Amino acid sequence: MSRRRDPEGVGAARTVRQQMRGLLLREELAFDTLRALLGLSVRDLEDELLHVARSARSRGERLVVSPPSCLACGHPFRDRESRHLHAPGRCPACRSERIRDPSFRLLPR
Ligand SMILES: [Zn+2]
Repeated sequence: MSRRRDPEGVGAARTVRQQMRGLLLREELAFDTLRALLGLSVRDLEDELLHVARSARSRGERLVVSPPSCLACGHPFRDRESRHLHAPGRCPACRSERIRDPSFRLLPR
């Protein structure tokens, strides 16, 4: 059996999901920051995040989600957490479009 090379690798051999887990284990990142770092579409990043959230428990980790909130009136979007991981386009309370991105962090259980 040959030695696995470069397990922390330069990225080429790692999947997007592995890269994302590595990033989120190190620091909390906002949705758009994460999307830019990984080069994913909104839809693809949501899919990856949902998968990581679902599979975290079996790895002894948990995905902590800081929900989006309205920068104008402070309205939180907690009820969106389970279904939508990206910020809504507009605040239902005051109609402002200045919405703070949700952010994510992986923590050991
Ligand atoms: Zn608002």
